[in-house]
Amino acid sequence: MNAQNILKDLVKFPILGGESNLEIVDYIKKYLQNFDIEYTLVPNKEGNKASIHCRIGPSTDGGFILSGHLDVVPVKGQAWDTEPFLLTEKSDGNLYGRGSCDMKGYLACCLVNLEKMTKADLKKPIYFAFSYDEEIGCVGAPDLIDSILNHYTEKPKYAIIGEPSLMQPIVGQKGICVFKTTVHGSEGHSSMIKQEVSAIHEASKLINWLDSKMDALIKSGHIDNRFTPPHTSIHIGKINGGVAPNVIANQCVFYWDIRNIPQDGIEEIKIEFLDYCKERKDILKPINPNFDIELTFDHPAVPALDTPEHLSIVPIIKNICGNNQISTVAYAAEAGQFSNAGLETVICGPGSIEQAHRANEFISKEQLKKGVKMISDLIDYLS
Ligand SMILES: [Zn+2]
Repeated sequence: MNAQNILKDLVKFPILGGESNLEIVDYIKKYLQNFDIEYTLVPNKEGNKASIHCRIGPSTDGGFILSGHLDVVPVKGQAWDTEPFLLTEKSDGNLYGRGSCDMKGYLACCLVNLEKMTKADLKKPIYFAFSYDEEIGCVGAPDLIDSILNHYTEKPKYAIIGEPSLMQPIVGQKGICVFKTTVHGSEGHSSMIKQEVSAIHEASKLINWLDSKMDALIKSGHIDNRFTPPHTSIHIGKINGGVAPNVIANQCVFYWDIRNIPQDGIEEIKIEFLDYCKERKDILKPINPNFDIELTFDHPAVPALDTPEHLSIVPIIKNICGNNQISTVAYAAEAGQFSNAGLETVICGPGSIEQAHRANEFISKEQLKKGVKMISDLIDYLS
């Protein structure tokens, strides 16, 4: 099997974030069994999904976790020129298919090197850590990381997250959190706006507060020029409320996200927002005792990544990926979760994020080759 054949097999599983992934896990299990590798499954509560991890090499501290996700994003509504779940090689040297770059390409790079790993005299272990539901909020990774840290008696030290980065080492990543806010007001004739509480009017005050909060962070110098844009963004993307122009709205729901630079905490912003919500409730409850504002997570917080350049993972990754330029990305991935668990973490993988999540997603054969070489060089480095 070469990497392209393995990738072709992996692309055939049309498993989206949120869906049962047991079929692709079964494929990985069988692949590992061919090399007599013991593995551990980390199922979700319902038992219809699982992450999988395994160790290759000795039970020694200081090993490398190779992390990837098994799920992909939908193809619905996208204009594909080829069958999305059939890896198709075109004359331009690219391999087209959903997940080819995000991020089954990296999984193939890991798996194709398994034989070499088992034959090598590894001084430190290599772990595979493949998760479910990354695409709907990095949902599977926390349990997977817990399981790895508890299952093995030795302590892994490093994690390489193979998200598509064109094989460039990425040491920083913004965090993300998506909230749903529901405002409960009271309905009535629009002429009675001062006697009732309009959920829409109140929602607009909350939205203004969030917008001003973003500006305040920027003005007070919370800037990190490694990112584009260099500040924490707070954005309201969806709003619903009201039944007619002349009826006071008794409910308004809006969705918003925070994409934070590492120096800004999502939790702090959330607490300040809740303080403001309380202020509004104290003012409005005398008019409408049922006035309320509910805040829930629509997407759990995924922490930012901020790996300092002096950590030993940085020269190692530069060395094995053949690229000396470190960089940062604005998208969210599981890297911050591995980093928060105490692992020296970088993102580095084949393919470009430009092609991810789009119609005609592809990975170039050259990138796939570079990804295979990186893992192969890691094996050499650890032998
Ligand atoms: Zn991804």
